[in-house]
Amino acid sequence: NYPLSDRVNAIQPSPTLAVSQKAAELRAAGHDVIGLGVGEPDFDTPEFIKTAAKAAIDAGYTKYTAVDGIVPLKQAVINKFKRDNQLEYALNEILISAGGKHSIFNLLSAWLNPGDEVVIPAPYWVSYPDMAKLVGAEPKFIQAGIDQRYKITPAQLAEAITPKTRLLFLNSPSNPTGTAYSLEELKALAEVLRAHPQVLIATDDMYEHILWADFPFANIAMAAPDLRDRIVVLSGVSKAYSMTGWRIGYAAGPAPLIAAMKKMQSQSTSNPASISQYAALAALEGDQSCITDMVKAFKQRHDYLVDALNQIPGMRCIAGDGTFYTFANIEEMMASKGFATDVEWCEAVLGEVKVALVPGSAFGAPGHCRFSFATSLDTLKEAVARIAKFASN
Ligand code: PLP
Repeated sequence: NYPLSDRVNAIQPSPTLAVSQKAAELRAAGHDVIGLGVGEPDFDTPEFIKTAAKAAIDAGYTKYTAVDGIVPLKQAVINKFKRDNQLEYALNEILISAGGKHSIFNLLSAWLNPGDEVVIPAPYWVSYPDMAKLVGAEPKFIQAGIDQRYKITPAQLAEAITPKTRLLFLNSPSNPTGTAYSLEELKALAEVLRAHPQVLIATDDMYEHILWADFPFANIAMAAPDLRDRIVVLSGVSKAYSMTGWRIGYAAGPAPLIAAMKKMQSQSTSNPASISQYAALAALEGDQSCITDMVKAFKQRHDYLVDALNQIPGMRCIAGDGTFYTFANIEEMMASKGFATDVEWCEAVLGEVKVALVPGSAFGAPGHCRFSFATSLDTLKEAVARIAKFASN
């Protein structure tokens, strides 16, 4: 009973990192574990990005930078929004942080007061609720099941918003479900939000580029230009360029909010790593075909995995629009095999056939599990064979 703060006691460690740790322990004990819990691309960071980082070291860019990031990188982010999203931002509307997670943390710290409500569609990315709790805010969930492709409807959104709601999270394409909202769907959500001017909208576009839907990428800022002053776009280079370890994320939004997020950052981490900033600059300004190659591989694995999992009795998953995750509904298998929770089911799969998965309850969707397909096709085939064996035992 170490006397820690109420703040830290209110949150739990990231469950996805916990799964990776458990798998690592089993592996260290000599077990042949297949880890499908991780949330990072299995590809190396493209060579031209690494070269830019080495050049930055050699050029002596190894000192503090401006708290909110170097101007060329902020300019590259502005160019990216113009190029990919037809959105216009000025330099004082952009903040570079130490990873996408850090951008989100800065946002919640700068925007929310204790007692404020944060609307989070479930399944959600694991960190949203805990980060909200960390600043004393209250997460309010909207449940979106498999039958609605895990996406919320305007009616559900209208019902979830109260006078205390100050923030809505949207994440498309979604971790963990892989589904994405179309421009039309976002327009319909925006129509609801127009009636609630106290609500800020955070669109987490971390998987923007990992998309193969038959509709183009859209976020709510693109769907509702009139709501511009109430929207923060959050993104980063981690997933698109296989740069998870470099820790560069960014936010774009109204200048006063970005200034407040910068102030938070100035009293906590200061600037993100200088060398990583130069690497991210190269990534955003360089040849974007590295993304296309990765997405092609992810799509191929996705097609294999979704089809193979649907052939396992008691497991059901839908084709995703992007990301490198598929979210399987395992309720039938849990019932037929007598598992009360998805956590117990995942523990049994890890224990018996040594495949590490993240239980759906970590994402606010019990009765599911998340497969990451950021691994080779051969590894996925072996994992499927093991789970099929588990299912038939
Ligand atoms: N947002 C979503 C939806 C994610 O899945 C992740 C990473 O898993 C992040 C944000 C954070 O990314 P980063 O590694 O840049 O902090």
